Amino acid sequence: MANSSIIIVGAGVFGAAAALELRKRGHEVVLLDPGPIPHVLASSTDISKVLRMDYGADEFYMELMEAAFRGWEAWNESWGTPLFHQTGMLLLAGGTMNPGGFEYDSLELLRKRGHQPEHLPADQLMERFPAWDTKEYPEGYINPRAGWAESGEVVARLISQGKTLGVDVRGGSAFASTLDDGSRVAGVRTTDGQQLKAEYVIVAAGSWTPSLLPLMEEFMWAVGQPVFHFLVEDVAAYQPPNFVIWGADMSNSGWYGFPALDDGTLKVANHGPGKRQSAGAPREVDADAEDKFRAFFRSALPGLAEAPMISNRLCMYCDTWDGDFWIDHDPDRPGLLIATGGSGHGFKFAPMLGPIIADVLEGKPNRFAHRFKWRARGELKTEYARYS
Ligand SMILES: Cc1cc2nc3c(=O)[nH]c(=O)nc-3n(C[C@H](O)[C@H](O)[C@H](O)COP(=O)(O)OP(=O)(O)OC[C@H]3O[C@@H](n4cnc5c(N)ncnc54)[C@H](O)[C@@H]3O)c2cc1C
Repeated sequence: MANSSIIIVGAGVFGAAAALELRKRGHEVVLLDPGPIPHVLASSTDISKVLRMDYGADEFYMELMEAAFRGWEAWNESWGTPLFHQTGMLLLAGGTMNPGGFEYDSLELLRKRGHQPEHLPADQLMERFPAWDTKEYPEGYINPRAGWAESGEVVARLISQGKTLGVDVRGGSAFASTLDDGSRVAGVRTTDGQQLKAEYVIVAAGSWTPSLLPLMEEFMWAVGQPVFHFLVEDVAAYQPPNFVIWGADMSNSGWYGFPALDDGTLKVANHGPGKRQSAGAPREVDADAEDKFRAFFRSALPGLAEAPMISNRLCMYCDTWDGDFWIDHDPDRPGLLIATGGSGHGFKFAPMLGPIIADVLEGKPNRFAHRFKWRARGELKTEYARYS
């Protein structure tokens, strides 16, 4: 099926990665996005995203991330300027680490798969990472094979590489509906009235997907999560080796964050139940959100309790019912493929997303695709037992 015509809806990391990979495989690719790209409201557009393979007992995501890390290193090399920064990640447990706990299971699996995490009891935690008050975190571990990526820059880079190879990137062009030929999807209508034909349409519109394609509302929904940027004066105290990517009892509290940038910007976010709302609705963090961040700082990162807040925003997840991504053909509408459902943890797999989406489109075997296939909604798993 080489040389197919493909329209991709959405130029976030799913769409941008798919466009580049499919173009490399010889397909004609048109990429639509209301733009400008990277879109300021896209989930992928931010100063940073966490890259880690620590997924509790879920070996599938650890294996997928092992492959993604090799991809990030290859991208860094090809880009010249690194956009992936391997700082290591500190995972603090909210109690003694026991089997079944996220930190314990992650540590065990890392060791089983030959990685070099280092377990840290409380006294070593405070010695190595003095910004932390570890009274609520009796132990944890550091995984050196982790870091962060400049996510907005990454998307911009993938888009420009795609353009260089001939992807027809159309910023300012938005999907309105599919163009159907019987039961087959044969293209798209855009909001400005154009009708664009193609053999395949890939909808990769992130948290906008359920509102653009109501048939997906049964399987996924948009959820807003707060992100705050604070300003630190003593930058070195909040940069490696003193301060790295962190998760503080992440599976229960949702708290995670980043080292400071050289300009003193320090990002912290919370991965909680969030705010279920349509991606197109006004985006405001809750009035008490800042108080909650500062209360957390007072107990765990006292040096940040009074740090000036630079900005905040509500960033949207496209949550699937089970927290796994959604990459598959619509079983009832040939010609349509859905590639979305990042569920708050998709960005880190960017180097793998393009090949998985392209293999699924082409009907080629892919050892990771099974987890993202079209699936009936089952009983809800422990809804928030997932991590960014
Ligand atoms: C607060 C927050 C923190 C996160 N932290 C992490 C993290 O640390 N690590 C990690 O791995 N993941 C993280 N994620 C998840 C990650 O950001 C997402 O899984 C990923 O970026 C989703 O990419 P996407 O391409 O599906 O969606 P998006 O990046 O949202 O892109 C969707 C695109 O669709 C476009 N679009 C919308 N409507 C239309 C239309 N009508 N026609 C055409 N295009 C349209 C939009 O303009 C946008 O560019 C986080 C997410 C959030 C919200």
